[in-house]
Amino acid sequence: MIELPIISELPSTTQKKSKKPDWLRVKLPIGEDYRKVRSLVDEYKLHTICQSGNCPNMGECWGAGTATFMILGNVCTRSCSFCAVKTGRPPEYDEDEPRRVAEAIFLMGVKHAVITSVNRDELRDRGAEIWHQTVVKVKELSPETTIETLIPDVKASWDALETMISAGQEVVSHNMETVQELYRKVRPQARYERSLEQISRTKAYGKRTKSGIMVGLGETKDQVYKIMDDLVAHGCDVFTIGQYLQPTKMHIEVAEFIHPDIFAIYKEEGLSRGFMYVESSPLVRSSYHAERHL
Ligand code: SF4
Repeated sequence: MIELPIISELPSTTQKKSKKPDWLRVKLPIGEDYRKVRSLVDEYKLHTICQSGNCPNMGECWGAGTATFMILGNVCTRSCSFCAVKTGRPPEYDEDEPRRVAEAIFLMGVKHAVITSVNRDELRDRGAEIWHQTVVKVKELSPETTIETLIPDVKASWDALETMISAGQEVVSHNMETVQELYRKVRPQARYERSLEQISRTKAYGKRTKSGIMVGLGETKDQVYKIMDDLVAHGCDVFTIGQYLQPTKMHIEVAEFIHPDIFAIYKEEGLSRGFMYVESSPLVRSSYHAERHL
């Protein structure tokens, strides 16, 4: 274990939650590539987590010609207190969506594509068949493009998990989102142990595994280290940590803004505890700079 400063002794490690600190300033969305991504999303009638999740990195990612498509609609059956995606009973899913996602990714010409989805707990297969078809179609049109699938909690439907992850994608991600102690408050319909099991089953299937959390929700550093250890023990290869930002006043409040120095410490700790790769900084989201670990 490397020797690190004690977090509580570092100067200005956090900033009062009422004022957004300078390190969270982001680029404005402008430029030709940004417009190209926007028109593809509109023309192909697709959803992105970038928009649905109010992601602060849209200026940078879309400006670099990339976006994360969100499949199976834009209404989620879960009601996580941190998430900006709409909650409710989703309409019928769109069977033509896999084709449109594949064509949009082909036209974007990205080397690495990240795809995610809402939770579809009302479907017997959790949306696994559409997941499978989407990855197959992307691979058909863009065989050189590596694919990262950020999949939801399948609620221990392990057949559905196998269908989701057996379509040729290189990376399978499932976000833990927060430390175990905050699950009830932040992710009430999920179970910490069940998400860990999903990751270990994905690893056993032979995939590169990835997970991420948000900090600034009131967790302690020891709780962060505990989730790192749990993830490594369950076969997680890649770990991401970013600052939680409250999407609207209806969502859970930010407890604190974590200083970039703390993110640097978390990165070192994560690597020393056994992750192959760690992205850790205030604006990190699981799909941010997602190609780097490959
Ligand atoms: S970090 Fe991910 S969700 Fe955010 S804009 Fe970039 S690709 Fe979209």
